[in-house]
Amino acid sequence: MLEHHLLHLRRIAARKQAYRCWYCERPMCLGTPTSFARRHGLTEALARMHLCTAEHLVPRSKGGKTCRRNIAAACLLCNAMRHRLPHELDPAAFAAYVRRQQAIGLWPPPNCQPLPNYSFKRTADVGLR
Ligand SMILES: [Zn+2]
Repeated sequence: MLEHHLLHLRRIAARKQAYRCWYCERPMCLGTPTSFARRHGLTEALARMHLCTAEHLVPRSKGGKTCRRNIAAACLLCNAMRHRLPHELDPAAFAAYVRRQQAIGLWPPPNCQPLPNYSFKRTADVGLR
């Protein structure tokens, strides 16, 4: 029941965000990584990093609730990285961190760079409904 509720909130958030990650604004994978990989010229491993996840803006460990206001849709990479930093940043600070890293070409981190023929430009290439 709770899981179903979370998926529902994730879907609402993803739609509201035009299927872009709340942090990095890259397209998110809502279908299968295989079709996403094909569409964007990625390996499946990279496509999996784009999987749409439900992000608790205030983490559950800090009392964050599973409700519409606290759920954003984030790609798997951003969701995982946010909680892996030595000092966990609040959502706005993490988004700013990701944008700074993008500006200097370090997001996604070098060990998970996209293939050269893939563009993260904000074009209408999402089309995932
Ligand atoms: Zn992201």
